[in-house]
Amino acid sequence: MIRFDAVSKNYPNGTTAVDDLSLELAEGGITVLVGPSGCGKTTTLRMVNRMVEPTAGTVSLRGRDIRDVAAPELRRGIGYVIQHAGLFPHRTVLDNIATVPLLLGWGRKKARARAAELLELVGLPAGMAKRYPYQLSGGQQQRVGVARALGADPPVLLMDEPFSAVDPIVRAELQTELIRLQKELRKTIVFVTHDIDEAIKLGDNIAVFRTGGRLAQFDSPERLLADPADDFVAGFVGQDRGIRRLSFVDAAELPLREGRVLSAATPVARARAVDEPWVLVVDGDRRPLGWAAVGGLPDEGTLADAVLAPLGHTFSLAGDSARAALDAALLSPSRLAVGVDAQGKVVGVADAYELSAATSGPEKDGPSTSAAPSGEVGKQGPPVHEAGEKR
Ligand code: ADP
Repeated sequence: MIRFDAVSKNYPNGTTAVDDLSLELAEGGITVLVGPSGCGKTTTLRMVNRMVEPTAGTVSLRGRDIRDVAAPELRRGIGYVIQHAGLFPHRTVLDNIATVPLLLGWGRKKARARAAELLELVGLPAGMAKRYPYQLSGGQQQRVGVARALGADPPVLLMDEPFSAVDPIVRAELQTELIRLQKELRKTIVFVTHDIDEAIKLGDNIAVFRTGGRLAQFDSPERLLADPADDFVAGFVGQDRGIRRLSFVDAAELPLREGRVLSAATPVARARAVDEPWVLVVDGDRRPLGWAAVGGLPDEGTLADAVLAPLGHTFSLAGDSARAALDAALLSPSRLAVGVDAQGKVVGVADAYELSAATSGPEKDGPSTSAAPSGEVGKQGPPVHEAGEKR
Protein backbone atom coordinates (compact mmCIF):
# COMPACT_ATOMS: atom_id res chain seq x y z
CA MET A 1 0.00 0.00 0.00
CA ILE A 2 2.62 2.54 1.17
CA ARG A 3 6.11 1.57 0.22
CA PHE A 4 9.48 3.12 0.96
CA ASP A 5 12.32 2.01 -1.30
CA ALA A 6 15.81 3.00 -0.12
CA VAL A 7 14.49 6.35 1.09
CA SER A 8 16.83 8.87 2.71
CA LYS A 9 16.36 12.43 3.85
CA ASN A 10 19.42 14.58 4.42
CA TYR A 11 19.29 18.25 5.38
CA PRO A 12 21.81 20.80 4.13
CA ASN A 13 23.16 21.23 7.68
CA GLY A 14 24.43 17.67 7.49
CA THR A 15 21.62 15.99 9.48
CA THR A 16 20.52 12.60 8.22
CA ALA A 17 16.89 12.49 9.32
CA VAL A 18 16.09 9.18 7.57
CA ASP A 19 18.75 6.76 6.41
CA ASP A 20 18.09 4.25 3.62
CA LEU A 21 14.62 3.19 4.68
CA SER A 22 12.92 0.28 2.94
CA LEU A 23 9.52 -0.63 4.32
CA GLU A 24 6.12 -1.74 3.10
CA LEU A 25 3.04 -0.81 5.09
CA ALA A 26 0.01 -3.07 4.82
CA GLU A 27 -3.30 -1.77 3.51
CA GLY A 28 -6.00 -1.48 6.15
CA GLY A 29 -3.62 -1.83 9.10
CA ILE A 30 -2.09 0.43 11.73
CA THR A 31 1.65 0.76 11.33
CA VAL A 32 3.32 2.54 14.24
CA LEU A 33 6.63 4.37 13.83
CA VAL A 34 8.27 4.45 17.24
CA GLY A 35 11.65 5.45 18.60
CA PRO A 36 13.41 8.09 20.67
CA SER A 37 13.07 11.76 19.82
CA GLY A 38 14.87 12.89 16.68
CA CYS A 39 15.14 9.45 15.07
CA GLY A 40 13.22 10.39 11.92
CA LYS A 41 9.64 9.30 12.63
CA THR A 42 7.93 12.56 11.70
CA THR A 43 10.13 13.00 8.66
CA THR A 44 9.17 9.51 7.49
CA LEU A 45 5.48 10.26 8.06
CA ARG A 46 5.64 13.56 6.21
CA MET A 47 7.29 11.98 3.20
CA VAL A 48 4.02 10.07 2.64
CA ASN A 49 2.04 13.23 1.87
CA ARG A 50 4.95 15.14 0.35
CA MET A 51 5.25 17.65 3.15
CA VAL A 52 8.88 16.51 3.07
CA GLU A 53 10.52 15.34 -0.16
CA PRO A 54 13.12 12.54 0.08
CA THR A 55 16.71 13.23 -0.90
CA ALA A 56 17.00 9.72 -2.32
CA GLY A 57 14.76 6.74 -2.94
CA THR A 58 11.08 6.36 -3.78
CA VAL A 59 7.86 6.50 -1.80
CA SER A 60 4.91 4.89 -3.54
CA LEU A 61 1.24 4.63 -2.75
CA ARG A 62 -0.70 1.70 -4.21
CA GLY A 63 2.15 1.12 -6.64
CA ARG A 64 2.37 4.72 -7.83
CA ASP A 65 5.44 6.88 -7.21
CA ILE A 66 3.99 9.79 -5.21
CA ARG A 67 6.18 12.25 -7.13
CA ASP A 68 3.90 11.54 -10.09
CA VAL A 69 0.87 12.77 -8.15
CA ALA A 70 0.32 16.50 -7.56
CA ALA A 71 0.57 17.24 -3.83
CA PRO A 72 -3.01 18.58 -3.46
CA GLU A 73 -4.46 15.53 -5.20
CA LEU A 74 -2.29 13.21 -3.13
CA ARG A 75 -3.36 14.88 0.13
CA ARG A 76 -7.04 14.54 -0.70
CA GLY A 77 -6.61 10.82 -0.14
CA ILE A 78 -4.58 11.25 3.05
CA GLY A 79 -6.02 12.49 6.36
CA TYR A 80 -3.57 14.12 8.76
CA VAL A 81 -3.90 14.33 12.54
CA ILE A 82 -1.41 16.16 14.75
CA GLN A 83 -0.76 16.82 18.42
CA HIS A 84 -3.08 19.45 19.98
CA ALA A 85 -5.47 18.67 17.09
CA GLY A 86 -4.55 21.88 15.23
CA LEU A 87 -8.18 23.00 14.98
CA PHE A 88 -9.14 26.39 13.55
CA PRO A 89 -9.94 28.40 16.70
CA HIS A 90 -12.44 30.74 15.05
CA ARG A 91 -14.53 27.96 13.49
CA THR A 92 -17.15 25.85 15.22
CA VAL A 93 -16.57 22.15 15.75
CA LEU A 94 -18.92 21.32 12.88
CA ASP A 95 -17.21 23.73 10.50
CA ASN A 96 -13.80 22.42 11.51
CA ILE A 97 -14.87 18.91 10.61
CA ALA A 98 -16.48 20.10 7.36
CA THR A 99 -13.23 21.78 6.22
CA VAL A 100 -12.11 19.25 3.64
CA PRO A 101 -15.55 18.46 2.17
CA LEU A 102 -16.05 22.22 1.73
CA LEU A 103 -12.67 22.57 0.04
CA LEU A 104 -13.71 19.76 -2.27
CA GLY A 105 -16.80 21.77 -3.24
CA TRP A 106 -19.39 19.52 -1.63
CA GLY A 107 -21.67 22.47 -0.81
CA ARG A 108 -22.41 23.67 2.71
CA LYS A 109 -25.42 21.45 3.41
CA LYS A 110 -23.84 18.19 2.33
CA ALA A 111 -20.53 19.05 4.03
CA ARG A 112 -22.29 19.81 7.31
CA ALA A 113 -24.36 16.63 7.12
CA ARG A 114 -21.14 14.68 6.66
CA ALA A 115 -19.55 16.57 9.57
CA ALA A 116 -22.50 15.71 11.83
CA GLU A 117 -22.10 12.06 10.88
CA LEU A 118 -18.38 12.19 11.73
CA LEU A 119 -19.04 13.91 15.05
CA GLU A 120 -21.15 10.92 16.04
CA LEU A 121 -18.60 8.48 14.64
CA VAL A 122 -15.86 9.80 16.94
CA GLY A 123 -18.15 9.56 19.95
CA LEU A 124 -19.04 13.21 20.51
CA PRO A 125 -22.60 14.38 21.25
CA ALA A 126 -24.39 16.37 18.53
CA GLY A 127 -24.70 19.24 21.03
CA MET A 128 -20.99 19.97 20.60
CA ALA A 129 -21.36 20.88 16.94
CA LYS A 130 -21.80 24.59 17.64
CA ARG A 131 -19.02 24.94 20.19
CA TYR A 132 -15.63 26.45 19.49
CA PRO A 133 -12.42 24.48 20.08
CA TYR A 134 -11.51 26.42 23.24
CA GLN A 135 -14.79 25.19 24.77
CA LEU A 136 -13.66 21.55 24.50
CA SER A 137 -11.32 19.43 26.61
CA GLY A 138 -8.02 18.29 25.11
CA GLY A 139 -9.41 14.82 24.49
CA GLN A 140 -12.54 16.18 22.81
CA GLN A 141 -10.43 18.43 20.60
CA GLN A 142 -8.40 15.44 19.57
CA ARG A 143 -11.55 13.55 18.60
CA VAL A 144 -12.59 16.53 16.47
CA GLY A 145 -9.12 16.42 14.88
CA VAL A 146 -9.67 12.79 13.94
CA ALA A 147 -13.16 13.56 12.59
CA ARG A 148 -11.75 16.40 10.50
CA ALA A 149 -9.05 14.13 9.05
CA LEU A 150 -11.77 11.65 8.05
CA GLY A 151 -13.79 14.38 6.30
CA ALA A 152 -13.41 13.18 2.73
CA ASP A 153 -13.15 9.52 3.76
CA PRO A 154 -9.48 9.21 2.77
CA PRO A 155 -8.06 5.67 2.57
CA VAL A 156 -4.90 6.75 4.42
CA LEU A 157 -4.54 8.48 7.80
CA LEU A 158 -1.28 9.93 9.05
CA MET A 159 -1.25 10.52 12.80
CA ASP A 160 1.70 12.36 14.35
CA GLU A 161 1.81 11.94 18.15
CA PRO A 162 -1.93 12.66 18.15
CA PHE A 163 -2.55 11.69 21.78
CA SER A 164 0.68 12.90 23.39
CA ALA A 165 -0.72 16.12 24.82
CA VAL A 166 -3.59 14.65 26.85
CA ASP A 167 -3.52 13.07 30.30
CA PRO A 168 -2.95 9.31 30.63
CA ILE A 169 -6.59 8.37 31.29
CA VAL A 170 -7.95 10.32 28.33
CA ARG A 171 -5.08 9.05 26.25
CA ALA A 172 -6.02 5.45 27.00
CA GLU A 173 -9.64 6.25 26.05
CA LEU A 174 -8.54 7.80 22.76
CA GLN A 175 -6.40 4.78 21.97
CA THR A 176 -9.28 2.41 22.64
CA GLU A 177 -11.54 4.61 20.54
CA LEU A 178 -9.08 4.53 17.65
CA ILE A 179 -9.01 0.72 17.79
CA ARG A 180 -12.82 0.68 17.70
CA LEU A 181 -12.96 3.16 14.80
CA GLN A 182 -10.35 1.24 12.88
CA LYS A 183 -12.36 -2.00 13.15
CA GLU A 184 -15.16 -0.16 11.39
CA LEU A 185 -13.18 1.94 8.92
CA ARG A 186 -10.15 -0.18 8.03
CA LYS A 187 -8.00 2.79 7.02
CA THR A 188 -4.33 2.44 6.30
CA ILE A 189 -2.95 4.29 9.32
CA VAL A 190 0.60 5.45 9.93
CA PHE A 191 0.94 6.46 13.57
CA VAL A 192 3.96 8.19 15.09
CA THR A 193 4.71 7.94 18.80
CA HIS A 194 7.71 7.82 21.14
CA ASP A 195 5.71 5.65 23.57
CA ILE A 196 6.34 1.92 23.16
CA ASP A 197 3.23 1.01 25.17
CA GLU A 198 1.07 3.04 22.82
CA ALA A 199 2.83 1.36 19.88
CA ILE A 200 2.15 -2.10 21.27
CA LYS A 201 -1.47 -1.32 22.03
CA LEU A 202 -2.28 0.17 18.64
CA GLY A 203 0.09 -1.33 16.10
CA ASP A 204 -0.63 -4.22 13.80
CA ASN A 205 3.01 -3.71 12.93
CA ILE A 206 5.68 -1.58 14.52
CA ALA A 207 8.73 0.03 12.96
CA VAL A 208 11.32 0.82 15.65
CA PHE A 209 13.72 3.58 14.65
CA ARG A 210 17.05 4.37 16.22
CA THR A 211 18.91 7.67 16.24
CA GLY A 212 20.31 8.54 12.86
CA GLY A 213 17.06 7.69 11.08
CA ARG A 214 17.83 3.97 10.87
CA LEU A 215 15.18 1.29 11.01
CA ALA A 216 16.08 -1.08 13.85
CA GLN A 217 13.22 -3.59 13.51
CA PHE A 218 9.92 -3.93 11.69
CA ASP A 219 7.63 -6.52 13.17
CA SER A 220 4.33 -7.37 14.80
CA PRO A 221 4.06 -6.35 18.48
CA GLU A 222 4.20 -10.02 19.51
CA ARG A 223 7.43 -10.59 17.61
CA LEU A 224 8.95 -7.38 18.89
CA LEU A 225 8.33 -8.50 22.47
CA ALA A 226 9.36 -12.11 21.86
CA ASP A 227 12.40 -11.51 19.72
CA PRO A 228 13.92 -8.03 19.71
CA ALA A 229 16.48 -7.70 16.91
CA ASP A 230 19.23 -6.33 19.16
CA ASP A 231 20.05 -4.72 22.49
CA PHE A 232 18.77 -1.33 21.39
CA VAL A 233 15.31 -2.72 20.58
CA ALA A 234 15.29 -4.91 23.71
CA GLY A 235 16.13 -1.87 25.84
CA PHE A 236 13.52 0.25 24.11
CA VAL A 237 10.81 -2.39 24.46
CA GLY A 238 11.55 -2.61 28.19
CA GLN A 239 12.49 -5.17 30.79
CA ASP A 240 8.95 -6.37 31.37
CA ARG A 241 8.48 -7.56 27.82
CA GLY A 242 8.00 -11.15 29.03
CA ILE A 243 4.88 -10.18 30.95
CA ARG A 244 3.62 -7.86 28.23
CA ARG A 245 3.97 -10.59 25.67
CA LEU A 246 1.30 -12.55 27.52
CA SER A 247 -1.24 -9.98 26.28
CA PHE A 248 -0.95 -11.62 22.88
CA VAL A 249 -1.57 -15.16 24.09
CA ASP A 250 -5.20 -16.20 24.13
CA ALA A 251 -6.34 -17.49 27.53
CA ALA A 252 -8.21 -20.26 25.73
CA GLU A 253 -4.80 -21.82 24.91
CA LEU A 254 -3.83 -22.22 28.56
CA PRO A 255 -3.76 -25.61 30.25
CA LEU A 256 -6.23 -25.75 33.13
CA ARG A 257 -6.72 -28.42 35.74
CA GLU A 258 -10.12 -29.57 36.89
CA GLY A 259 -9.09 -31.77 39.81
CA ARG A 260 -9.04 -28.90 42.29
CA VAL A 261 -12.56 -27.78 41.37
CA LEU A 262 -15.13 -29.34 43.70
CA SER A 263 -18.82 -28.73 44.24
CA ALA A 264 -20.08 -27.47 47.58
CA ALA A 265 -21.79 -30.85 48.07
CA THR A 266 -18.42 -32.67 48.14
CA PRO A 267 -17.63 -34.37 51.49
CA VAL A 268 -14.59 -32.79 53.20
CA ALA A 269 -12.85 -36.18 53.25
CA ARG A 270 -12.82 -36.17 49.46
CA ALA A 271 -11.46 -32.63 49.36
CA ARG A 272 -8.57 -33.75 51.60
CA ALA A 273 -7.86 -36.63 49.26
CA VAL A 274 -7.11 -34.15 46.46
CA ASP A 275 -3.90 -33.48 48.39
CA GLU A 276 -3.57 -29.81 47.47
CA PRO A 277 -3.46 -26.84 49.85
CA TRP A 278 -6.46 -25.11 48.21
CA VAL A 279 -9.56 -26.31 46.37
CA LEU A 280 -12.04 -24.18 44.47
CA VAL A 281 -15.63 -24.61 45.61
CA VAL A 282 -18.35 -24.24 42.97
CA ASP A 283 -22.15 -24.39 43.10
CA GLY A 284 -24.34 -26.88 41.22
CA ASP A 285 -23.96 -24.79 38.03
CA ARG A 286 -20.17 -24.74 38.34
CA ARG A 287 -20.18 -21.08 39.28
CA PRO A 288 -17.26 -20.25 41.58
CA LEU A 289 -18.05 -19.63 45.26
CA GLY A 290 -14.59 -19.25 46.79
CA TRP A 291 -11.41 -21.00 47.92
CA ALA A 292 -11.28 -23.57 50.70
CA ALA A 293 -7.94 -24.00 52.50
CA VAL A 294 -7.75 -27.76 52.89
CA GLY A 295 -5.78 -27.45 56.15
CA GLY A 296 -8.63 -25.46 57.70
CA LEU A 297 -11.55 -27.71 56.72
CA PRO A 298 -13.96 -28.92 59.41
CA ASP A 299 -13.57 -32.54 60.48
CA GLU A 300 -16.73 -33.67 58.79
CA GLY A 301 -19.58 -32.49 56.59
CA THR A 302 -19.27 -31.05 53.09
CA LEU A 303 -17.46 -28.11 51.53
CA ALA A 304 -20.66 -26.11 52.04
CA ASP A 305 -19.67 -26.06 55.75
CA ALA A 306 -16.20 -24.63 55.06
CA VAL A 307 -15.25 -20.96 55.50
CA LEU A 308 -14.28 -19.79 52.02
CA ALA A 309 -11.62 -17.23 51.11
CA PRO A 310 -12.79 -14.73 48.50
CA LEU A 311 -12.39 -15.74 44.92
CA GLY A 312 -10.30 -12.84 43.68
CA HIS A 313 -11.13 -12.24 40.06
CA THR A 314 -11.63 -14.84 37.38
CA PHE A 315 -10.40 -14.75 33.78
CA SER A 316 -12.49 -15.64 30.79
CA LEU A 317 -11.46 -18.24 28.25
CA ALA A 318 -13.74 -16.40 25.85
CA GLY A 319 -11.70 -13.29 25.19
CA ASP A 320 -9.13 -12.67 27.95
CA SER A 321 -5.40 -12.91 27.43
CA ALA A 322 -2.85 -14.98 29.32
CA ARG A 323 -1.80 -11.74 31.00
CA ALA A 324 -5.25 -11.47 32.61
CA ALA A 325 -4.89 -15.08 33.75
CA LEU A 326 -1.49 -14.46 35.31
CA ASP A 327 -2.81 -11.36 37.01
CA ALA A 328 -5.73 -13.36 38.40
CA ALA A 329 -3.31 -15.99 39.75
CA LEU A 330 -1.02 -13.48 41.42
CA LEU A 331 -3.91 -11.68 43.12
CA SER A 332 -5.74 -14.80 44.24
CA PRO A 333 -5.37 -15.93 47.91
CA SER A 334 -4.59 -19.42 46.61
CA ARG A 335 -2.19 -18.12 43.93
CA LEU A 336 -4.40 -19.99 41.47
CA ALA A 337 -6.30 -18.42 38.59
CA VAL A 338 -9.88 -19.45 37.91
CA GLY A 339 -10.76 -19.78 34.23
CA VAL A 340 -14.43 -19.43 33.32
CA ASP A 341 -16.34 -19.83 30.06
CA ALA A 342 -18.59 -17.23 28.43
CA GLN A 343 -21.40 -18.16 30.85
CA GLY A 344 -19.18 -17.67 33.90
CA LYS A 345 -18.91 -21.42 34.61
CA VAL A 346 -15.59 -22.71 35.88
CA VAL A 347 -13.51 -24.60 33.32
CA GLY A 348 -10.46 -25.15 35.51
CA VAL A 349 -7.64 -23.54 37.48
CA ALA A 350 -3.91 -23.01 36.97
CA ASP A 351 -1.08 -21.55 39.03
CA ALA A 352 1.24 -18.78 37.95
CA TYR A 353 4.07 -21.18 37.23
CA GLU A 354 1.94 -23.35 34.94
CA LEU A 355 0.65 -20.25 33.17
CA SER A 356 4.07 -18.79 32.49
CA ALA A 357 5.50 -22.17 31.46
CA ALA A 358 2.67 -22.63 28.98
CA THR A 359 3.37 -19.31 27.33
CA SER A 360 7.14 -19.37 27.13
CA GLY A 361 7.75 -22.56 25.16
CA PRO A 362 10.37 -22.41 22.40
CA GLU A 363 7.71 -22.74 19.69
CA LYS A 364 6.51 -19.25 20.62
CA ASP A 365 9.92 -17.81 19.84
CA GLY A 366 10.67 -19.69 16.68
CA PRO A 367 10.71 -17.81 13.41
CA SER A 368 8.28 -20.35 11.96
CA THR A 369 5.42 -18.78 13.91
CA SER A 370 6.32 -15.29 12.75
CA ALA A 371 3.65 -13.45 10.85
CA ALA A 372 6.04 -10.72 9.87
CA PRO A 373 9.67 -10.67 8.88
CA SER A 374 12.07 -9.45 11.50
CA GLY A 375 15.61 -8.46 11.97
CA GLU A 376 18.17 -5.78 11.57
CA VAL A 377 17.94 -3.81 8.39
CA GLY A 378 21.43 -3.45 7.02
CA LYS A 379 22.78 -0.89 4.63
CA GLN A 380 23.64 -3.30 1.84
CA GLY A 381 20.48 -3.34 -0.24
CA PRO A 382 18.06 -4.70 2.34
CA PRO A 383 14.87 -6.30 1.09
CA VAL A 384 11.77 -4.21 1.46
CA HIS A 385 10.24 -5.24 4.74
CA GLU A 386 6.62 -6.09 4.36
CA ALA A 387 4.04 -5.70 7.03
CA GLY A 388 2.87 -8.88 8.73
CA GLU A 389 -0.57 -10.29 9.36
CA LYS A 390 -3.12 -8.81 11.72
CA ARG A 391 -2.57 -9.96 15.23
P1 ADP B 1 11.27 12.43 15.35
O1 ADP B 1 9.95 12.61 14.72
O2 ADP B 1 11.69 11.00 15.44
O3 ADP B 1 11.41 13.12 16.68
P2 ADP B 1 12.20 14.05 13.15
O4 ADP B 1 11.79 13.26 11.96
O5 ADP B 1 11.33 15.21 13.51
O6 ADP B 1 12.37 13.09 14.40
O7 ADP B 1 13.67 14.59 12.96
C1 ADP B 1 14.75 13.74 12.62
C2 ADP B 1 16.04 14.56 12.64
O8 ADP B 1 16.01 15.49 11.58
C3 ADP B 1 16.23 15.34 13.91
O9 ADP B 1 17.62 15.34 14.22
C4 ADP B 1 15.81 16.74 13.52
O10 ADP B 1 16.49 17.71 14.28
C5 ADP B 1 16.22 16.79 12.07
N1 ADP B 1 15.41 17.73 11.27
C6 ADP B 1 14.08 17.69 11.09
N2 ADP B 1 13.68 18.69 10.27
C7 ADP B 1 14.80 19.38 9.93
C8 ADP B 1 15.05 20.53 9.11
N3 ADP B 1 14.08 21.16 8.47
N4 ADP B 1 16.33 20.94 9.00
C9 ADP B 1 17.35 20.29 9.62
N5 ADP B 1 17.17 19.22 10.41
C10 ADP B 1 15.91 18.76 10.56
